[in-house]
Amino acid sequence: MKPDQSLILVVDDITSNLKILGGILQPKGFNVTFAKNGQQALERIVSSQPDLILLDLMMPEMDGLTVCKLLKEDDRFRKIPIIFLTASHEQDHLLQAFSEGAVDYIKKPFNAPELLARVETHLELKHLQDRDAQQLAQERLIRHVVQATMESLDLKDILKAAVDGIRDYFKADRVLIYQYIYEYMDSDRRELECSKGRIVAESLVNSYTSFLGLSLGECPWFVTDTKDPRSVHFYNTATNMETSHHKAKLLQWQVKAELVSPIFQRSEHWGSLIIHRCQSSEPWVPETVQVLSSLLEQLELAIQQAHLYQQLQLANQELRQLANVDSLTGVANRRYFDTYLAETWAQLQQEQALFSLILCDIDYFKAYNDHYGHPHGDACLQQVAQAIAQATHRPTDLAARYGGEEFALLLPHTSPEGAQQVAQRLQQNIAALAIPHAQSNLDPHLTLSIGLSTLMPNPASSPEQLVSMADRALYHAKEQGRNCLKIWDA
Ligand SMILES: [Mg+2]
Repeated sequence: MKPDQSLILVVDDITSNLKILGGILQPKGFNVTFAKNGQQALERIVSSQPDLILLDLMMPEMDGLTVCKLLKEDDRFRKIPIIFLTASHEQDHLLQAFSEGAVDYIKKPFNAPELLARVETHLELKHLQDRDAQQLAQERLIRHVVQATMESLDLKDILKAAVDGIRDYFKADRVLIYQYIYEYMDSDRRELECSKGRIVAESLVNSYTSFLGLSLGECPWFVTDTKDPRSVHFYNTATNMETSHHKAKLLQWQVKAELVSPIFQRSEHWGSLIIHRCQSSEPWVPETVQVLSSLLEQLELAIQQAHLYQQLQLANQELRQLANVDSLTGVANRRYFDTYLAETWAQLQQEQALFSLILCDIDYFKAYNDHYGHPHGDACLQQVAQAIAQATHRPTDLAARYGGEEFALLLPHTSPEGAQQVAQRLQQNIAALAIPHAQSNLDPHLTLSIGLSTLMPNPASSPEQLVSMADRALYHAKEQGRNCLKIWDA
C-alpha cells in the first residue's frame, strides 16, 4: 500500500510536536492532518475519516484516553487504529490505553525510523482488515442471492432477495430492478419497446418514496445508453455539474447518488439495476463495479433459471390439460372423470353434501353413423358434448365423455331435484340443436336417453355405487323406449 493513499491524523497539544511528526511523515509521502486538542481531533475524524491516529496521551481538557474511548464506542470510527504518543513518565497510563483499544504506543522524544516502522505496520494491518471485511461482505452478498435462488424458483422472491442484499451491502437507500417488456414490433422481428416495462423489485428505506410497479414513463430518471448498453452509469448530483432533466428528477426524489447497471439475458437487454443514495453522496468506487459484475452474473443465472422453470410449468400445465381432455369433443375424458369423481366424493363425504350424476346416451347412434358416415358422427358427438357442457355453468360441475356416444355430468352439491332441472335443460339444448336423424324410430331429430342418480357420500357407499345407479337408471330409460329421463330410486 502506498503512503499517499493513507491519511494520518496527528493530535498533540504541543505545536512543536506536531511539527516534528509532520516533518517525519510528510516527506515519506503520507497525507497528514493535525489537531491541537481532543475536541478538534473528534471534529477532524468526522470530517476526514483518517486511516490512522497518532494520539497524545496527556492533553489539557480532553485527554487522549477520553478521545480513544469515545471513538471505540462509535461504530463509524471503531476500526481506526490509534497509536498513543507518550512521555516516559506517563508509562503508568499505558495499560489503561491498551484496555481502551489502542494498538500501539510511541515514546517521546520521537525516533523517526521507529515511528515510521510502527505507522507503516499498522496502516498495512488496517488495509488488510478492510480488504478482508469487504471480501467477506461481498461473499455474503453473493451467497445471499445464491441461497435465494436455491430456496425459490419464483423470480419475484429471487429479485427481492437480491435488492435487499444489494441495499445492505452498498448502504443504499433505494434499490430497484426495472424489467423491460418486449413486443413484436413487426412480423417476426423482436424489438425493444422502450416505453414499456416496470419496476419489478424494490428495497427501500422506509422514509423514501416507493417506485414499485411504476413504468418508465412514470419515473423517467434513468437512461440507458443505446450505443453501449452494457456500460454502468454513475450520477452524483454533487459533482455532476450538468443541469439536465435527469439531474432535476434526481433532486426532486432526494437522490444524491445514482448507479444504473444493465441486466442481460443472453444477448438481450432484460432490464436495469438502479441504486440510489439519498442520505450521503458518497461517490461510487471502482470496486463497486467489480462486486456488481459478479453479483449480476449470479442474478442473470437466477433469472434464466426462473424463466426456464416458468416455461416448464406452463408446458406441464398444458400437458396435464391435454391428458385430461377428450381430443374429439373437448370435454373431460374418462380418465379425468374417474379422478374428479373420486376427489369430489372424498370432499363431499367430509362436507356431508349431496352428489348427483347424470349419464346419457345418444339414441340409435350406431344407425346414425352407418347412415351419415363417421365424419358426420364425429361432428354430432362434438355438438352433443357442447350442449351437455352448456347445461350447467357452475365451475365445480364437470361434463365428460364417458365412452363412445355416452356422456356424463358430475354435479357436486346437487339434490335430485336440482339434477333433474339440469337434465331437462340438457334435453332442451339437444332439441334446440335439431340434428336430423333419419334412422331414429322416435323422432326426426337426434335424442338422448338419460339416467340420473344422487347419493350422500359416506363410508358405507362408494363412487362406483353412484355410477352403477345412474347406469341402471339409464338402462331403464332405454328399456322404457328411449328419449326420456329416469331417476334411480333406491
Ligand atoms: Mg501533551
